[in-house]
Amino acid sequence: MKAAPLLLLALVLGTSLVSAQTPVLSPPDSVRRGEPGFAMLSPLSAGSKASDYTLSVRYADGSASPAYQGFFAPGSSGGREVPSAGPSAVVLRAETLMFLFSAPVNAALGPAVMVVYGPGGVPVGEAGFSVTDRVFSREDLYLDSALTGIRIDPDPRKTEQALRYQAVLASADPTAVFLDGGFVKPVETERRTSVFGLRRRYVYFSGEVDVTTHNGIDYGCPTGSPVIAAGAGRVVMAEDRIVTGNTIILEHLPGAFTIYMHLDTMAVPVGAVVARGAFIGTVGKTGLATGPHLHWEFRIRGIACDPEALVGLDKIPSIRRMIPAIEGG
Ligand SMILES: [Zn+2]
Repeated sequence: MKAAPLLLLALVLGTSLVSAQTPVLSPPDSVRRGEPGFAMLSPLSAGSKASDYTLSVRYADGSASPAYQGFFAPGSSGGREVPSAGPSAVVLRAETLMFLFSAPVNAALGPAVMVVYGPGGVPVGEAGFSVTDRVFSREDLYLDSALTGIRIDPDPRKTEQALRYQAVLASADPTAVFLDGGFVKPVETERRTSVFGLRRRYVYFSGEVDVTTHNGIDYGCPTGSPVIAAGAGRVVMAEDRIVTGNTIILEHLPGAFTIYMHLDTMAVPVGAVVARGAFIGTVGKTGLATGPHLHWEFRIRGIACDPEALVGLDKIPSIRRMIPAIEGG
């Protein structure tokens, strides 16, 4: 039997799954600022609809997260039990509902509470976890007059594009259940010209300053370098935009998107379903870019988190040691 890679991924990220008769919500022990986490609710009765379930997080400062859509892991074990060889029984079922959520880069540190709401908005599970700190660096970026214009000049087309972009990122298609493991890096380079969560000061041509958070990772690569899909997903945007240039958005799970910006060429149309590693375009410097690079972003219900937090996780050898019975077979 083939174990569900996404369930393994969640276990690697620290979620503990227990066997029980009434649904138990299993959060990860902790999530770092700006990083994703999986939670599971199990077991659900047969015939449950994943789209009836959402998860919300309340942070220590009282702020609330968006509602994260539940989904059944692709490649689940089909309802059969998968016994663990370890001391505590690990049971994976098709009825295990999963949630992918993320802590914002500025999430309040300390104890947080997650609540799952079921059919009719009734709470069906609650669990605590903690948000831990992560240090983000800073940089200044000096823009010439042309790049300053791209960033700050009012333009109705920019507004129209921004509204459509926000609408895509705010959507959550319950049928978009594609992710079947960790991410791969979308370009073959280790050269990061800007990192995730960087506090960036834009210094405009006029000398004015605007402070933002860098919501993705920039990989410096020559124009024309191939860009691949970080994970299996469906193309929900492939468009030439003023600020971000040629931009592709993939939906991997309901409401969970990776974004690829400043592309020279785009090779996939909206609606196409792509496998992890599929060629989707080439690196360029279209839009607001000071040189050829890929800006890669990962957003869950609109909240940016570190895309590299999911890179290569289904390959780490500790999975085999943790749950040998699942990894085998
Ligand atoms: Zn960037």
